[in-house]
Amino acid sequence: MKTLDTLLSLELQPWAMAGGATTQSTPLATLSRVAQACLAPAERQATVCEWQLQSQLRHPDTLKQLWLHLKASLTVAQTCQRCLLPMQVDLSVDRHFRFVADEATALAEDDDCEEDLLSPAPELTLQTLLEDELLLAMPLIPRHTTCDKPLPQSPDQDLPHPFAALAGLKLGKQ
Ligand SMILES: [Zn+2]
Repeated sequence: MKTLDTLLSLELQPWAMAGGATTQSTPLATLSRVAQACLAPAERQATVCEWQLQSQLRHPDTLKQLWLHLKASLTVAQTCQRCLLPMQVDLSVDRHFRFVADEATALAEDDDCEEDLLSPAPELTLQTLLEDELLLAMPLIPRHTTCDKPLPQSPDQDLPHPFAALAGLKLGKQ
């Protein structure tokens, strides 16, 4: 029985090739890159990400393809960029991934398919994938649909969106 920390650090492609499937509840504090992009929750232990990852071998025209399906949900606190008060943001991930041979293939095919492409890399772990997708699910500019106390002007310095740090990460890792 693997502990959660061990599981999260597993290299993703070998795990998927072995038919990996898991359903987990992971504390936000464990997902450090996601936690850094959020306000500290009032009750840290209570904030948990529920996620499922399922690998699947598909056989289109006998060409074996290795796929992953990731579903995750997490509610975090972020600062509304209009009124600067804390707000709850529901993050939801439901994405399909397909492994390709290498990064060059991923770059060549990426525009032509719906799914996300993954190229094998030792640093591509369950935790990397989960954190990346949660960060991408965050709103570019978190703000209430209607603020109770809107400021007369918007703040000059918006928080940098975590997407900026992720640019090219999925395909561009060396
Ligand atoms: Zn607001």
